[in-house]
Amino acid sequence: MSMTQRRTIIEKTAGYGIGAILCIAGGLILIWTAWKTWGHMQEGVAFLDALMKQASSISLAGYQVNLAFMHYAIIGSAVLVVGCVLLAVKKKRVPIVEEVTVVLECSSCKDQWQEQMTEAQLTAMGYPENRRLTRRKCPSCSKFTRPAIVRLLGTRAARTTKTTDTEK
Ligand SMILES: [Zn+2]
Repeated sequence: MSMTQRRTIIEKTAGYGIGAILCIAGGLILIWTAWKTWGHMQEGVAFLDALMKQASSISLAGYQVNLAFMHYAIIGSAVLVVGCVLLAVKKKRVPIVEEVTVVLECSSCKDQWQEQMTEAQLTAMGYPENRRLTRRKCPSCSKFTRPAIVRLLGTRAARTTKTTDTEK
């Protein structure tokens, strides 16, 4: 994991779930259409005749729907395409930053404390070559010092949209 790496996470929205459902529904309609068309072809009907002329009556929410398989194929494809478009559009890329907990040491009283920083901030100030921060007020002796970075305590991913307070 490099210090300057830009990472994003993909956040799934409500529209993404609807897209997934439509993809599955469209796929099922197409499979059902293919299966029924294949059935008619087994009875000696030509492919195009089976697709264009054979109708199948289904009961949909109390209504009788009587459409040629061609139409079911078109409906299935349309539902599948809409579903795929929703899947592509509704996934949101959220940029994240690596947040590091650094242990700082006061140059005056040698007391240590911890602070949260982003890896981008560390890189910008020249870490690891430069191991001193700009002026900070020491929480122990209250003097303004340039504390040394003693060590890093590990990183965690933080969403940039929520942690704007750590950005400078
Ligand atoms: Zn101090």
